[in-house]
Amino acid sequence: MLSNVRVVLVGTSHPGNIGSTARAMKTMGLSNLYLAEPRTEPDGQSIALAAGASNILKNLTKVDSLEEAIADCSLVIATSARSRTLDWPMLDPRQAGEKLALESIKGPVAIVFGRENHGLSNEELQKCTYHVAIPANPEYSSLNLAQAVQIICYETRVAHLALHDAPAPEEEYPLAEDLERFFVHLESTLSNTGFVIKNHPGQVMTKLRRLYSRARIEAQEMNILRGILTSIDKKIDKK
Ligand code: SAH
Repeated sequence: MLSNVRVVLVGTSHPGNIGSTARAMKTMGLSNLYLAEPRTEPDGQSIALAAGASNILKNLTKVDSLEEAIADCSLVIATSARSRTLDWPMLDPRQAGEKLALESIKGPVAIVFGRENHGLSNEELQKCTYHVAIPANPEYSSLNLAQAVQIICYETRVAHLALHDAPAPEEEYPLAEDLERFFVHLESTLSNTGFVIKNHPGQVMTKLRRLYSRARIEAQEMNILRGILTSIDKKIDKK
């Protein structure tokens, strides 16, 4: 099950952090590492810092964007040290670990980490359903990347051990790529009705994303919403 928990590093620039991340993951029983648009390659320093976890480096997956890294995941949690202008549904590390452990029984889930120098962009954060902040010293809250990975992986392991042989949850959540398609459809329909002005969507789409994140819509509910949009599209086409 923990093999379904994907650690995604976005835009990492220090090879040492990639190695230390692999070690942090392996000590907690995780193995699935993705690098999204990395700014460096794993090198000798990565292997040295990975210690006995270089198999994770060997098997890592490299992709061009966060979107690609999370496409087939039904739960995506972003980590962030800062609180942002637009508050997103927040979890603490324990709650994040519990969700990751439980929902990974069913399929791939992801925990996303940002760049060493400036974390994740707002756009990247808004592609994730939840945000998690490690409650650090407010005057010095930014942890080293691999140490942040260690804390989330630890919480995931503790939650996983507490689950014993719990059954898979019944809820079916949409995959990130299906949710993205839904947002594209929603924006297109709202543009066609004139509610959203093309190329000047303002904050409307961001606020709608937040609304659907907060509601944590299920796959079937998303299909109903898409059906509603299609029915509106048809009426507009007839005019
Ligand atoms: N200066 C950056 C921090 C980057 S630290 C910023 O202000 O966003 C690199 C990464 O480690 C972050 O993107 C996040 O994924 C993780 N991280 C560091 N400290 C964290 C904290 N207190 N809570 C959650 N994640 C944290």
